[in-house]
Amino acid sequence: MTGPWTKGEKTVTDALRVLVVEDEPNIRELVCLHLGLEGYACEGAGDGQAALARTERERFDLLVLDVMLPGLDGVSLCRAVRRGGVNRDVPILMLTARDQESDKVIGLESGADDYLTKPFGVRELVARTRALLRRPRQTAAAAAVDRGDDASGPPVRIHGIDIDMARRRVRIEGREVELTDQEFRLLHLLATHAGIVFSREALLTRIWRGDTYVTVRSVDTLVKRLRRRIEADPANPRFLLTVWGVGYKFADV
Ligand code: CA
Repeated sequence: MTGPWTKGEKTVTDALRVLVVEDEPNIRELVCLHLGLEGYACEGAGDGQAALARTERERFDLLVLDVMLPGLDGVSLCRAVRRGGVNRDVPILMLTARDQESDKVIGLESGADDYLTKPFGVRELVARTRALLRRPRQTAAAAAVDRGDDASGPPVRIHGIDIDMARRRVRIEGREVELTDQEFRLLHLLATHAGIVFSREALLTRIWRGDTYVTVRSVDTLVKRLRRRIEADPANPRFLLTVWGVGYKFADV
């Protein structure tokens, strides 16, 4: 049966699928309503275990996870999804409680791509969601470079910076820039996640891969070094931005 409501509309099968995991019905329905208006096929779950079971069976285009959940909390759910399976590279947006700075850090370390602090505005929710869904889903090769494995991947171009992963070469406005391996990996990680804030701890884990002799200060030092290589004015960076109290991000488009 085809009515006026489905005519010319995307069918459910080509709409991007979003799973919203939140036990507070009002927030869950609000998120689903507004993402639905954006044209996404939104489904809700109120329990962490039930959500995990679904993510093990079905592929989604985005997960919105509240940190505080019955059954299994959002951080553990996020870690479980990232460990493998059909959704291991799905963009994840965390919903964190107000004034819980630690929630943001834990969320990003567990593999979330971005977070929203409650209470959040609908416009901010929609903007973050669009940004996450606009990003190309990370390829296996890019994931391997993130992990520090020797792998090639597609070249990245952002704000006049060309990053050639296969050749480990970086050009800024056509001019070749020499980078150390760590500087290269930091630049690649941030540039392929433009606009996403990484805590110092998250960068330590991703860039140094569990080396126990480094501290968060090493991250600041590496950022300073990379700025000297790629920024015209390292004291007023255009690309590698500091997010006070949280960490660093690459300038968004
Ligand atoms: Ca909750």
